[in-house]
Amino acid sequence: MSDEGARLTELAKRRGFFLQSAGAYGGVSGFYTYGPQGATLKENLEDAWRDRYVTREGHMEISAPDVMPEAVFEASGHLDGFDDMIIECPECGASHRADHLVEDNTDIEEAESISTEEIAEIIAEHDLVCPDCGTELAGEPVEDFNLMFETNIGPGSSSPGYLRPETAQGIFVEFPQLAEYARNQLPFGVAQIGKAYRNEISPRKGLIRVREFTQAELEHFIDPEEDEPPLSRVEDVVLPLYSAEQQDAEDGGIRELTVREAIDEGVVTSDWVAFYLGLSTAWYERVGVDMDRFRYRQHLPGELAHYASDCWDAESELGGDWVEITGFAYRGDYDLKKHEEHSGEDFSVFKQYDEPVTVERPTVDPDMSVLGPEFGGDAAAVAAALEDLAERDPDAFDDDEVTVDVEGEAYTVDVEATGFGVEEVTESGEHVRPHVVEPSFGVGRLVYTVLAHAYAEDEVDGEERSYLSLPPEMAPTTVGVFPLMDRDGMGEEARDLASRLREAGLEVTYDDSGAIGRRYRRQDEIGTPFCVTVDYDTLGDGEGDGAQAGTVTVRERDSTEQRRVAIDELAGTLTALRDG
Ligand code: ATP
Repeated sequence: MSDEGARLTELAKRRGFFLQSAGAYGGVSGFYTYGPQGATLKENLEDAWRDRYVTREGHMEISAPDVMPEAVFEASGHLDGFDDMIIECPECGASHRADHLVEDNTDIEEAESISTEEIAEIIAEHDLVCPDCGTELAGEPVEDFNLMFETNIGPGSSSPGYLRPETAQGIFVEFPQLAEYARNQLPFGVAQIGKAYRNEISPRKGLIRVREFTQAELEHFIDPEEDEPPLSRVEDVVLPLYSAEQQDAEDGGIRELTVREAIDEGVVTSDWVAFYLGLSTAWYERVGVDMDRFRYRQHLPGELAHYASDCWDAESELGGDWVEITGFAYRGDYDLKKHEEHSGEDFSVFKQYDEPVTVERPTVDPDMSVLGPEFGGDAAAVAAALEDLAERDPDAFDDDEVTVDVEGEAYTVDVEATGFGVEEVTESGEHVRPHVVEPSFGVGRLVYTVLAHAYAEDEVDGEERSYLSLPPEMAPTTVGVFPLMDRDGMGEEARDLASRLREAGLEVTYDDSGAIGRRYRRQDEIGTPFCVTVDYDTLGDGEGDGAQAGTVTVRERDSTEQRRVAIDELAGTLTALRDG
């Protein structure tokens, strides 16, 4: 673990951000509990996400189950293809992710896209050894390992289920109903914040690679023929882009292009993906990502997921490494098509025309009686294949005979016998299978990034201090309220003030233990942006003429500057400062 990682993990445990769970039983890697500060920070991030991607965009939000039946993942492709490469040490039995082993010990990057056979060869060529015991791994098989957690639904094993490896499928499977809720009007978006589970081979780096994590995903369903993103809202936003081309170039680094330039130069090929990169840039900044440690990296051709045609990852720099925090993918109609094929249900939207239109439609004799009994049980299948062909390729009926394929067998039929003709029909609309644009955020990686990027050190009054420079909106505690000392009525006044601020909707901590300087440091370390102190002046008992009665000091975390604010104005002032 990097120095930054070690320091953060220590701070996170000591101050209640996150800790490895079930420590009393030795802990299990890949599972974390968010402590009181971390749970609130995570919730604040989720609220900011919901505000941006659901409320302000006018999308819907749903909450689907974590466990879903096998059929869902058969259709989505996860059962067959959601694998990582695994290699086992013959000596100590430890399992390792083969592509990570290669990336960590050679100058090969993005080894995920290399085949298992090639990875095994690379491991042998580079004499790579087991990181745990140093045994040579040359000659050991590299295999595919499916990352889904399997369970049984109900007693017995007849009904296998899986913990979802992404929240997205919970949205896709409900598409027919969701389209109804959207009154069959494209485009519309459906979001979900929820748990996802992946049985990672080697969890590592704190919250970065875990086995249970929270995703915030938006599936934006669009008509690929008609719907354009509202680019004018984002076209001037500057994107730090690390394109496939830049990754290939010798001196390739980040290129800064506006959304408009990125589209015009063909760097980002999907306008919709470009729109979301633009929309998200300001959001990352809002939640506290350091934009000097941030970039958008394009997937290399071999790295694209089975469903994606253009994909960019938002990456943050952590401990010297670039880590994916969000995937932006153009998923096409892959998922809806698969669910339609596997379920037999209609996963399209019926698009009503403004006015009914009359079109010519090629038809064949529906009961295909001409085929006669010699076709036996296949007559219906041949009829269906002919109907399908007439719709797709009416020119095929220009000849005397037409041939269709049914389950690998070719059937040739006289065109005349098919009853082929063209009829005029009036149509009120058409079925459109939407395409999907997906921003997929990992909330834990964001929590980790925001903490790492907020960490700062300086010197105050000759003493070193460390603090978290979190945006006030994200900070788990907005205000710490202290009496200078818990005596002469200052304690009562401060406790009363704390409860009034809580009533006003602020996150407040009351603290009267230890010297005031130490109390400030404690709040600095958890990123509390404001501390309020009740002193003798507040009570009108200080030196001078009592002019400061009814006021308190408000100290700002990063600058440590203090000013006096009237108690009556405090809730309003702090709320305004928190909300920016
Ligand atoms: P990686 O390549 O790092 O395994 P991925 O490409 O498989 O990630 P996606 O499937 O695109 O990730 O998932 C979307 C988001 O979910 C990621 O950007 C990340 O923030 C989060 N995520 C994925 N896997 C994990 C994990 N094991 N632990 C924590 N967050 C994760």
